Amino acid sequence: GKQAFLGPEGILEKKREYLIPCVYHFYSKPMQLVRGEMQYLYDHTGKKYLDCVAGISVINCGHCHPQITRAICDQVNTLQHTTTIYLTQNIVNLAERLASITPGRLKKSFFCASGTEANEGAALLASIFTGRHEFISLRQGLHGRTKLTMSLTGLSMWRTDTSPVGGISFAPNAYCYRCPLHKSYPECDLACANEIETVIKTSSSGQVAAMFAEPIQGNGGIITPPPGYFKRLKEILESYGILLIVDEVQTGFGRTGKMFGIEHYDVEPDIMTVAKALANGTPVGAFMTRDEIAAAYTRPGASTLGGNPVTAAASLATLDVITNSNLPARAAESGSYLKQGLASLQQKYSLLGDVRGLGLMLGAELVRPDNSPAAQELDNIMENMKDRGFLIGKTGPDRNVLTFLPPLVINREDMDSLLNNLEDVLKSGY
Ligand code: PMP
Repeated sequence: GKQAFLGPEGILEKKREYLIPCVYHFYSKPMQLVRGEMQYLYDHTGKKYLDCVAGISVINCGHCHPQITRAICDQVNTLQHTTTIYLTQNIVNLAERLASITPGRLKKSFFCASGTEANEGAALLASIFTGRHEFISLRQGLHGRTKLTMSLTGLSMWRTDTSPVGGISFAPNAYCYRCPLHKSYPECDLACANEIETVIKTSSSGQVAAMFAEPIQGNGGIITPPPGYFKRLKEILESYGILLIVDEVQTGFGRTGKMFGIEHYDVEPDIMTVAKALANGTPVGAFMTRDEIAAAYTRPGASTLGGNPVTAAASLATLDVITNSNLPARAAESGSYLKQGLASLQQKYSLLGDVRGLGLMLGAELVRPDNSPAAQELDNIMENMKDRGFLIGKTGPDRNVLTFLPPLVINREDMDSLLNNLEDVLKSGY
């Protein structure tokens, strides 16, 4: 039957009672979100918010996009679920569609229900293909919440497991603002990428199957590698027979101004993982690879809900919207406008130590005069912006990076009002 209205207090009470406490939330006085419409969200009082989080890079097409909603409803009303032991057609049409937009030879897909699962599956595939079992990962990367993917994660906040899986070595990331090798680009000659070779030679037993990397590290703090980084990385990995697994869970499907984040670096990964924005809000995950690697994985593999008719219909409709509305190009254009706006705030307010990112995956690292992380200041700004009707995210190991990941349909007026309100908050104190 119809649920009684709880309100924020009622939700918090039930949350404390019935959810595992690891399920955390933002804001000291959170609102209850009840409705979404394209780039906007509405709370229980009818208050409207500009959503600059998009469910963490999920709602690229906008909330409740009518075309996607219709595709989901039509499919739910016809055939909801069967598992892949029976033939249905949405899953193969989706795989064919993905093959047409993925870089290079990435052609064959396996579908599951989350980004975590996609990365688990990609790791397994790499081990099957190479016959090796070690991995390399980047500091500040995030790849999931299971035993292995958490062990591949380079952010202690997200490494809850105190006894991680072995055989994983971490390499310094391409964090130019606070270079882990204390160098600066381009004089550094991509020292952080070169460092991968040292990691292979010193921290592994020489049996590395694959390296995991996000094109732009999302939870790591919108860490955006400089040009040439992934080319160098790929060359080194290839010389050791190590596969490159690119985690596009957050960067995929137009977010960075291209269909996939790795396209900015002109590199073909051996395996690519996706989730989130592929289905614009219904649970989805997938990994893709080329024929040669796929051919190694012949033993039965099944994900009960992976590629189910509803999710696959949602994904097909989402890809239609992304392509037909030119969302990657719109993200590139809007992103450069928003980034310019943030950069001009940076000129006036030294709190904004660094502005970075590509397309509509942008971050502003907040720092104190001594360059230390301004995490409390960030929380105050976030609360203040929420009261003004703007939902912004935060990431980074020190939780001092304001993140802007709006639906890709955000317009000039939205961005002007976001920037004006942010300036007011920066001016009036935080
Ligand atoms: N990879 C990246 C880059 C992510 O940002 C996330 C989630 N934030 C994941 C993997 C895990 O995805 P999921 O939550 O769908 O399991």
